[in-house]
Amino acid sequence: MLSRKINLMFTESDYGAILDRALSMGSASILDAIEYSGLRGRGGAGFPTGRKWNAVAEAPGKSKIIICNADEGEPGTFKDREILEEQALKVLTGMMVCAIAVGADRGFIYLRHEYSYMISHIEKEIDRFQKLIEPRKLSFPIEMRMGSGAYICGEETALLESMEGKRGEARNKPPYPVDKGYLDFPTIINNVETFVYTTIIIEHGPEEFHNLGTKDSRGAKIFCVSGDTPKPGIYELEMGMNLEDFVRDFGDGDTKAVQVGGSSGYCVPRKLFTETIIGFEGIPTGGSMMLFNSSRSMYNILKGYLEFFCEESCGQCTPCRVGCQQLLKGLEAVKASEKPSSYLKRLNGLAGMMEISAKCGLGQSVAHPFKSITEHFTEEIVY
Ligand code: SF4
Repeated sequence: MLSRKINLMFTESDYGAILDRALSMGSASILDAIEYSGLRGRGGAGFPTGRKWNAVAEAPGKSKIIICNADEGEPGTFKDREILEEQALKVLTGMMVCAIAVGADRGFIYLRHEYSYMISHIEKEIDRFQKLIEPRKLSFPIEMRMGSGAYICGEETALLESMEGKRGEARNKPPYPVDKGYLDFPTIINNVETFVYTTIIIEHGPEEFHNLGTKDSRGAKIFCVSGDTPKPGIYELEMGMNLEDFVRDFGDGDTKAVQVGGSSGYCVPRKLFTETIIGFEGIPTGGSMMLFNSSRSMYNILKGYLEFFCEESCGQCTPCRVGCQQLLKGLEAVKASEKPSSYLKRLNGLAGMMEISAKCGLGQSVAHPFKSITEHFTEEIVY
């Protein structure tokens, strides 16, 4: 059994008290608390939140911006939707805590197009939030911006392009958003879940969060469990568990693989469950945990991922635009015996090249499912 179940995310909070505490702490103490907590971005990349916030606090700029990235598009991830439906005030309070810490004066929620049914709910919650901050002499307008259904706009610089009314494509980095983000102002972009945990850290103190998890993966996290499991759903669990424990709790007794981190993550076969840590020292995830049993064809699963990447590649850089298509064609050719099994090695070389030369995380991460599935489930691709 999992060693510990956590319930921080979906409990009710006294938001007025949290705001009062943040105001009494002031910028420097909030930054220290977030840094000490060990919180890292919960969108998947895991950049240390305290370091990001410090960079914007120190950046010169007559205006500073906070953006909540609610463009939850990774296949197998559906937690931010639930958080916004049930705990929107916790998200907004986290954005306010961040604004106090870094000296920001405007906030935005960038909402996934498919979640547009939530607009009126979130607007009502923003009204409630404004009523909470007004008596505290705080001013922090929060606006909503909608995505248009492109996966790439979850990437922070493509998100900025989209918010500025341009085509959603990744920018060259540097400059990073903390220096030049929305309209060139220093900008914090954090995921929905990350802002909730900042609220929790102020509410409970940084020690509680710091003491959960492992040295590299502090705290708790929301996991989206799907696939061949008797218990699909959303769970808040301590970071740093191994996959064996996870599968014992959520598997159906016949789990042959777990895709950790969605289509851009890694596929872990049963023989590696015990040694695989779910966390930044092992395999990180933005939340997606897809379990597959022996009824599943790993060839079909990989083919589905590649079709998804072909569809979602923005086409801006050659390694990704051409590489995704070639990986898909090559995989199909090997499966149909039109290419020898040794061709998989060449395709893995192409995937490795994409990992180092694609412009953004989308093209770079195609190698993760491709390499892991072709390595561990070769027999399902090559006859
Ligand atoms: S890696 Fe893909 S999604 Fe990213 S910029 Fe290149 S073509 Fe666009």
